[in-house]
Amino acid sequence: MARSDFRNPLRKYNEDILKKELFDQKLLGDLRNALADGQFRVYYQPKYDIRSEPPRLMSAEALVRWEHPELGMIPPGTFIPLFEGNGLITLVDNYVWEETAKQVAMWRNKFRFTLPVSVNISRADIFDPDLTERLCRLITNNGLEYCDIKLEVTESAYSQDADRLLGLIHTLRKIGFEIEMDDFGAGYSSLNMLSSMPIDVLKMDMSFVRNIENSETDLRLMKLILDIAGNLKLSVVAEGVETEGQLKLLRDADCDLVQGYYFSRPVPANEFEEFIRKEREQRVS
Ligand code: C2E
Ligand code: MG
Ligand code: MG
Ligand code: MG
Repeated sequence: MARSDFRNPLRKYNEDILKKELFDQKLLGDLRNALADGQFRVYYQPKYDIRSEPPRLMSAEALVRWEHPELGMIPPGTFIPLFEGNGLITLVDNYVWEETAKQVAMWRNKFRFTLPVSVNISRADIFDPDLTERLCRLITNNGLEYCDIKLEVTESAYSQDADRLLGLIHTLRKIGFEIEMDDFGAGYSSLNMLSSMPIDVLKMDMSFVRNIENSETDLRLMKLILDIAGNLKLSVVAEGVETEGQLKLLRDADCDLVQGYYFSRPVPANEFEEFIRKEREQRVS
């Protein structure tokens, strides 16, 4: 911080807000061109079943990145909240979903092996009256099964409009989609949500995994979540698994699936093919 900023923190604060405001305006202004120009990239992160040894590749999560010509690679945390506020996120999501469905079909043809991939559904998507139709089109246009594309709905969407979300989830599950509750435990409505939402999979937020190696309390909380999920017959994906120690503790606690840097960061489609290739070899041998 410059000396003058020290003397006048308010000025620094206002400047920061202005910078952020300008940055957001730039991203908003650049969005349409970025879509038309194909600047969004879909990365894939594997999810492994840790109940078997070696762990089995079960699915992946599609995660968007923006390869901006001037600003470089922009992570979703920077632009998703911005585009969620005004509904523009539906344009980005549509692109990501279509790209993902095409990729799943392509991999199926190439490897004779269908790896289901989950996509993220944003709060704004839930208010789109065409959502169900958009999702169904992904399946029919690409010759997929409904179980090939899984839907991750963030827990915080529940607090927005629980009734609407409940109706939507009922419809989507009846059609054949699987619903994963994302970031479970990060919001304040977690337990309410569990008792009323018919979901298939619970994704335990990474904040519950981070400290299990050095905090007895966190370890107990993690086990408690697994217990609750087990009682409700939900399978659990632990997010943000980075170390072998975390993996071992989760396995000992009977967690079903994990996702995290320990196995891989999200990678572009061509790099992800290596994971599919390895898995296929393991399954046939
Ligand atoms: P999420 O859906 O909970 O996705 C998991 C996030 O955790 C990803 O961040 C992933 O890179 C990160 N992660 C995975 N393993 C680890 C780990 O071991 N350690 C740490 N520290 N992080 C890990 P990413 O890709 O930056 O995405 C952030 C969030 O942005 C996502 O959280 C999701 O809410 C949203 N998002 C990403 N792609 C899309 C999209 O296509 N559409 C929508 N609507 N939201 C998206
Ligand atoms: Mg997710
Ligand atoms: Mg998550
Ligand atoms: Mg998250």
